[in-house]
This record gives sequence, C-alpha cells and structure tokens, in this order.
Amino acid sequence: MTANIRYKSRIPVKTEDSTEEKQYVGFATLPNQVHRKSVKKGFDFTLMVAGESGMGKSTLVNSLFLTDLYKDRKLLNAEERINQTVEIIKHTVDIEEKGVKLKLTIVDTPGFGDAVNNNECWKPITDYIDQQFEQYFRDESGLNRKNIQDNRVHCCLYFIPPFGHGLRPVDVEFMKALHEKVNIIPLIAKADCLTPNEIKKLKDRIREEIDKFGIKVYQFPECDSDEDEEFKQLDKELKECTPFAVIGSNTVVEARGQRVRGRLYPWGIVEVENQSHCDFVKLRNMLIRSHMHDLKDVTCDVHYENYRAQCIQEMTRSESVRGEDNRKRTT
Ligand code: GDP
Repeated sequence: MTANIRYKSRIPVKTEDSTEEKQYVGFATLPNQVHRKSVKKGFDFTLMVAGESGMGKSTLVNSLFLTDLYKDRKLLNAEERINQTVEIIKHTVDIEEKGVKLKLTIVDTPGFGDAVNNNECWKPITDYIDQQFEQYFRDESGLNRKNIQDNRVHCCLYFIPPFGHGLRPVDVEFMKALHEKVNIIPLIAKADCLTPNEIKKLKDRIREEIDKFGIKVYQFPECDSDEDEEFKQLDKELKECTPFAVIGSNTVVEARGQRVRGRLYPWGIVEVENQSHCDFVKLRNMLIRSHMHDLKDVTCDVHYENYRAQCIQEMTRSESVRGEDNRKRTT
C-alpha cells in the first residue's frame, strides 16, 4: 500500500538528467504547500508596549507599522494620573502587504510607572500575560482545539527613559517580574535627546545592569554556520546594538531633497529611518522581517511551556492530596 502511494507520487518532470527525473518523488514541493496554507490562513502577532507615559510608545508603534493605532486615545492630566492604576488596552488592526495578511494586536499598558506610588505596578501586566496563557491552556484542553484564538503576548517592548544613568529600580523590578513570561526587548526611548557618546555609555551601562541583576531579556538565536558572510555581519551588528536606541515620529519632513519620517528641530532634522541617527530600522527589521517567527516560537516553546508545566504539576499535586485524603477517610 505504502509502495503504491509512493509510486503514484512520482510526477515526471522535464529535466535534462533522466536519472534525476526518475528520482523525483515530489516532496520537494512541501515548503510551497506549507507556504500556501499559511498565507491563506494569515498570521497574527501580539506586541506589548510598556514604559512611562510620554516615552513615545504610541508614536513608535505607529512609525513601526505605518498605521494610526491610537486614534481614540484619551490623555489624562496629572491629577487624574496620581492614583491611576495600570490599565491594559488592546488595539487590533488587520494589515495586508503583497497578499500576506497580518492581524496585529498591540497591548498597551497606560498608567505603568505614572502614579506617585509605583509599588507592584507591573502586577496587572503579569496577571494579563498569565490570563492569556490560562485561556490558551483551557482552550487547548477543550473540545474545539482547531479554532483556538491565540492571545498570548509574543513580545514586550520596554521603554527605558534616556535621561537617567542606567536602569531605575522600577525598570529592574518590571523586567524581573516579566522575564520568565514574555520576550522582553529593552529600548532606549527618545534617543534624539542623547549624543552618540552618551548613547554608547547608556547602552553599556544598561547591558551591565541587565547582567548584574540576572535579567533575561530576549536572546537572538545563534546564526547558522552556513549563512553567508553578509548575513552573519548583520546578525552580529544586531546583537551588539541592544538595547535599541529609538526615535519615533508621525510626521514627514523634507531632508536632503527627500520626504522622510523625522523630527524637525531649529538646528536640524532627525531622521527616524537613518541608521546613523538611531536604531529604528534595526528594530523594525528584527521585529518584523527577521525574528517575528522566532519570538512566537520562544513564546510557545519556552514561556508557555513553563506555564503549562507548572499548571500540570499543580494539578497533579492537588489530585494526589485529594487521593491521600480519600484514602485516610476510608481507612
Ligand atoms: P506615550 O505616552 O508613551 O505613548 O508617548 P507618545 O507617543 O504619545 O509621545 C509623547 C510625546 O513625545 C509626543 O509629544 C511625541 O511627539 C514625543 N515623542 C515621541 N517620540 C519621540 C522621540 O523619539 N523623540 C522625541 N524627542 N520626542 C518624541
């Protein structure tokens, strides 16, 4: 039976080499089949942004995806923010590029770090991430596993203010509370406030502190040894440039005879997509073009797996306690 199926799948192809023609079974088309199926199904990606209000989060997200995701945003005044608790707001857009559909969900965390007392202000955020894992775990164990809506958070862009001398206690606490649950990518916000020298110093300092406090930020996967030299070089540059120093802008200005996304100052223009001005392009390429799939894989294979293992352990423990109680009662 198997042999028969195998024989049938031998589709003759016109090649000059007749031995190659006989050897052709057809499974070389498998990647195309997978490609077609996934394009038809579409892709989804959930990105969380966190950091103090005014750090440029919404501007950066709009610059990254070239859409206005924050049309209905209501800004709070200082009085309203004094006792503000952290809210979780989801914005979803469907974007399409060359026939490929992406359902993008941005999870915003307004209020984070804004109150006078920021004790445990990351708690609603960790709870939200856990709730998405819990929902997925429940759906996966349910009857309709085929149509699970995956709301797990694949990546968290964490905005560090450019004004300090490294990480603040709230940054350390936030990242430590989340690093086992989500892929954290730290960013230096509003990098146009700093000179290149200051950016370098701040990056070195943040990297040192990330190591010192044992914070596990997202690790880029190792580059395959058979990749070409250009790719390896780009990969090295990407790894060396974290935390990404970013600039956002929603306006288009004229620079060097071209219309570019940038910020116009009395002393000149800062171009968002100019690699000598900031790391915006590197971040965008990494997030969208090269590592989106890996971020999803790590979410599923590492963070969700940890959550799932914990759940199963707890379930087994409570079952054995119940069994023990029953045994005691019957004896
Ligand atoms: P959010 O509250 O973190 O979402 O911050 P917004 O995106 O609303 O930005 C707050 C203010 O900072 C706005 O006036 C923006 O124009 C400005 N802004 C945003 N990105 C940058 C940046 O990269 N550099 C500078 N200097 N200002 C920025």
